[in-house]
Amino acid sequence: MKQTNSIYTGMQTTIFEVMSRLARENGSINLGQGFPDVDGPLDIRQKAADELLNGYNQYPPMLGLPVLREAVADANKRFYGLEVDPATEVLVTSGATEALCDCLTALIEDGDEVVLIEPLYDCYLPLARRAGATVKSVRIVPPKWELDKEALEAAFSDKTKLIVLNDPHNPAGKVYSDEELGWIAELLEKYDAYAICDEVYEHLTFDGRPHKPLMAFPGMRERCLRIGSAGKTFSLTGWKIGYITGGKELLDPVAKAHQFATFTTPPNLQEAIALGLNKGDDYYHSLAADLQAKRDRLAKGLSETGLEVIECQGTYFLTVDITSLCEKKGLPIDDAAFCQTITFEAGVTAVPVSAFYIQDEDHLPAPKNFVRFCFCKQDSVLDEALEKLKSWAL
Ligand code: PMP
Ligand code: GLN
Repeated sequence: MKQTNSIYTGMQTTIFEVMSRLARENGSINLGQGFPDVDGPLDIRQKAADELLNGYNQYPPMLGLPVLREAVADANKRFYGLEVDPATEVLVTSGATEALCDCLTALIEDGDEVVLIEPLYDCYLPLARRAGATVKSVRIVPPKWELDKEALEAAFSDKTKLIVLNDPHNPAGKVYSDEELGWIAELLEKYDAYAICDEVYEHLTFDGRPHKPLMAFPGMRERCLRIGSAGKTFSLTGWKIGYITGGKELLDPVAKAHQFATFTTPPNLQEAIALGLNKGDDYYHSLAADLQAKRDRLAKGLSETGLEVIECQGTYFLTVDITSLCEKKGLPIDDAAFCQTITFEAGVTAVPVSAFYIQDEDHLPAPKNFVRFCFCKQDSVLDEALEKLKSWAL
């Protein structure tokens, strides 16, 4: 039999699916894969149901329903001061994952270099490689997850086509500083390159820290493709509605990739997300405030358990250093083994951060002392998980 594609053949299933399956099989509390355990606003779900029963259920326009494209353009203006033409500068996709795939497929030519920042969300690497890119990686380093300017510069060259920037960052919980974004902007201009900005956690930043899209920086309007996800903004991760904002010229080939990937996205969900995006500022404030309280609840409990909690500025995730707890319990400092052990012995599941690193002989080994816990869960669930972890650890 002929060989199937070498990137996907023999590839492991994503860590999120693997850990969720393990949690289900062991009846463990799942703080691994990032999804809320309470669904998003009822009026959004009601709108989707009404549209499903009484609305239009055939192919919507390829770029997305005008009502949603307008809502995305309005949100760009309202939150970031970006003027966006809804007719030509917004594309609706089936989730941010499809958006990433469309952008990478549409921009990359064989042999282009793509800069990725480790730790990285797992689909970036295979999608970039499958599109023909050579990947150059640079690391943000814990516990502060700062970007090293020289290392960043060293990853760029005349062959660089684009950088993928995830801000706020999964799994680090980092929000990039203005200074770091400024360095990236300078390099994009110097090397005439683009940025695919994965901003799915744009509304989930804490302690009053604003989210600033790279696209809003001087000179960046035409170099960035900015990706959002209704899954995160409205606690509806199963809906898989994403949206890309980009200059007309840059977005056009991306739309062509989209037309042969999914072509369209369910119209009832688009109508409902348009309603969601138009919600008042109070919705967005309470979304972030609720999550911030959950972050604090989980952080306090995890540190009482003997885990060193790393600062989290945004997203759904807290990262902890497991070193001292492993030493105390005589366990190897191995994040993957730790996640299995706490699933089996404590009844709580998390995700090993080493899964967010490029694992091949050309790259430095991944750190093995960090584990990611998801906090977008009901308080009672967080409390129960913490009780279980404490009685295992202490
Ligand atoms: N990017 C990042 C950083 C993510 O954490 C996720 C996971 N939800 C996605 C993209 C994918 O988003 P979606 O579910 O909308 O495809
Ligand atoms: N983004 C989610 C996470 O980081 C997972 C999404 C998925 O399972 N594909 O946990």
